[in-house]
Amino acid sequence: MTGRVQDRTAVITGGASGIGLATVRRLAQEGAHIVLADVDEQAGKQVADSVGGIFVRTDVTDKEQVDELFRIAKDTYGSVDIAFNNAGISPPEDDSILDTDLDAWRRVQEVNLTSVYLCCKAALPSMLEQGRGSIINTASFVAVMGAATSQISYSASKGGVLSMSRELGVQFARQGVRVNALCPGPVNTPLLQELFAKDPEKAQRRLVHVPMGRFGEPEEMANAVLFLASDESSFITASTFLVDGGISGAYVTPL
Ligand code: NAD
Repeated sequence: MTGRVQDRTAVITGGASGIGLATVRRLAQEGAHIVLADVDEQAGKQVADSVGGIFVRTDVTDKEQVDELFRIAKDTYGSVDIAFNNAGISPPEDDSILDTDLDAWRRVQEVNLTSVYLCCKAALPSMLEQGRGSIINTASFVAVMGAATSQISYSASKGGVLSMSRELGVQFARQGVRVNALCPGPVNTPLLQELFAKDPEKAQRRLVHVPMGRFGEPEEMANAVLFLASDESSFITASTFLVDGGISGAYVTPL
């Protein structure tokens, strides 16, 4: 049986956990060759092995490591067809602008935004040469809405990811390379669980704004990534692809 991304090479950053992990599994099910990048060596290797893919230990803030990641993908499988630039952090020291210091600000910008710049820069030459490619960058619903419970650097970084994705999508649209920003609502992953375990009141406040009344599941994000990665989304580029349980459309939510 032929999968929806059969024999395409997919580089997935942050693939050892959460949304990245679910996407590794989903794309592998649909026939992709998986190249998993993460700083978590143990989990990353285990997950990559479980889908017959390869693990490349990569800190996505490091240009040399990112360049090496995409080089390995190309050398191993002959192409780079899908780049899911997804690794990100949401540390507690990134909070209200009044309390967030410059180090915390910079660290989040590096991991969430500079990394996406580096990964796109590394993926694009192969894709342009092939005349085909799909880049999916993980932004967030906070790229399009403001939260009173602020994480200032995180929100700003995701706004940057959204804006960069849109511009790249426009720039390369006639060369066969599509670039979209996945904007998840709150998703039930370790990143969110950690954040809200420390502050249950914050979790409750977030949930109130979700029309569906629940957090998303990583598998629901993975399905959206699969769609954007496959030819089924061939007329979609530069999009703000919201998968958010209705948050961004709501003025009030049902009781
Ligand atoms: P997660 O913490 O479950 O997974 C993130 C992965 O990224 C981990 O495996 C971690 O080791 C890896 N990582 C962190 N820093 C890295 C680095 N410097 N280099 C390489 N890998 C690194 O998180 P998640 O919830 O699956 O989040 C994935 C993406 O989705 C992030 O960009 C996040 O901002 C975004 N997002 C998450 C939510 C949510 O509610 N969970 C909502 C919107 C957007």
